Amino acid sequence: MKLEIQKNEKMKTLGELAASIAHEVRNPLTVVKGFLQMMRPNESGKNQKYLDIALGELERTESIINDYLNFAKPKLTKMESFSLTDLLNNISALFTPMAGNSGILITADLQEDIIIHTDRGQLQQALINVVKNAVEATPTNGEVTIRLTCKESQAQIMIKDNGKGMTREQVSRIGTLFFSTKEVGTGLGTALAVRIIESMNGQITYDSKVGIGTKVTITVPLYVGGRKSF
Ligand code: ADP
Ligand code: MG
Repeated sequence: MKLEIQKNEKMKTLGELAASIAHEVRNPLTVVKGFLQMMRPNESGKNQKYLDIALGELERTESIINDYLNFAKPKLTKMESFSLTDLLNNISALFTPMAGNSGILITADLQEDIIIHTDRGQLQQALINVVKNAVEATPTNGEVTIRLTCKESQAQIMIKDNGKGMTREQVSRIGTLFFSTKEVGTGLGTALAVRIIESMNGQITYDSKVGIGTKVTITVPLYVGGRKSF
């Protein structure tokens, strides 16, 4: 019991430390990003390549920092009603350039006008993390499909890819902090997504076959009332 408490205290301090570092680092990064975006390539166009790499790496850093900050701020704080259909359309549009560059087709098959009441920012973060993994796992000419349906008082979001898939062992490690099979992966994305969905009293399940693809099914109540911490 005592050990548990000590462990929790330690996690809290680590979380606070991570959050304050993330917070401090984010502002200068935003400035650097702004200036890089303003810079023009030289006459031979040579600098364009370097600018693209620098911007890409900055964006990656930004998303890692956002995941850490979210871990440190794990509550559903800003509850509001919004269109889940619009949110998924926006996420699909967000990934279209990245997917297009890799020859991947993103299709959104969304039941219209599904209104949900929850923390929009947190749900968006969870969905982005799941869709990002789907795109990253999918080869050229592959497909990622996002489907939204509504059953009784639950919204069901399915994110399906025909990418490389996972072994049983890998699926069992989904949601564990720092589990990653990627060279530059953080193993934060799914852990955060699982926590967020569970905090909304929802469910997230992974169904995957190596070489065939992965189907992620997320179910969330249309109305998430109280403030539940996780
Ligand atoms: P990261 O993306 O930084 O590796 P995540 O927590 O987002 O960390 O994902 C953890 C691991 O789960 C990934 O490295 C990958 O091995 C596996 N994974 C998650 N989603 C998929 C998917 N759609 N297809 C195949 N593997 C996946
Ligand atoms: Mg990821």
